[in-house]
Amino acid sequence: MTKKKTKGTLIVLSGPSGVGKSTVIAELLSEREDIHFSVSYTTRAPRVGEADGVDYCFVSREEFEGMIEREEFLEYAKYVDNYYGTSLKVIQDKLDQGVDVLLEIEVQGAATVKQKCPDAVLIFVIPPTFEELSRRLHGRATDDESVIQGRLERAKKEYQHIPLYDYLVINDSVPNATQEILSILAAEGCRVKQRLPMIQTQIEGVTAL
Ligand code: 5GP
Repeated sequence: MTKKKTKGTLIVLSGPSGVGKSTVIAELLSEREDIHFSVSYTTRAPRVGEADGVDYCFVSREEFEGMIEREEFLEYAKYVDNYYGTSLKVIQDKLDQGVDVLLEIEVQGAATVKQKCPDAVLIFVIPPTFEELSRRLHGRATDDESVIQGRLERAKKEYQHIPLYDYLVINDSVPNATQEILSILAAEGCRVKQRLPMIQTQIEGVTAL
């Protein structure tokens, strides 16, 4: 008999603005309802349609800085004048219960996670081409040209961090990208390191023969 895994996998997903991360994540979570999506803390204002505690935990700068001082974050970063951070407590509890946890964070935060949790699985999502990213950002029609150019410039900088990641997923279509991520997670779940503790009794039985 195999046992449930003892420790959850920490999954980090990053990618440039406009690549379609949220859509891919929604699809992924509908396929893998057992994954816990970590809701980040941020000091930025909620956008239309965003709910506190669902999309983000929206806090003031003072509250966020208090959390930094009390070392309540696994990682945090400043992105376009706002703080974003991952609460250590919630994800630690989930991982200890054997639940996989998904973080959707930018590249500086991902670098911190890699350093603090070397077993984390880091996935970077890119569009098929840079032109496609530009087309998608223009297609949103919610931002003016200078904001779009800023996002494209930032994306170029983010691409330089790709070698830090374990996997690169090309979002040519949401089903394909989701399928690739599901395959990555399936393979990660088969690692000997993951499975050995699950079959410990079996191994002890064989050794006793
Ligand atoms: P947005 O303001 O568009 O929701 O997010 C801006 C950026 O912040 C995105 O690249 C997103 O991945 C990143 N982000 C969201 N939550 C966190 C977090 O907890 N930590 C870090 N480092 N980045 C985050």
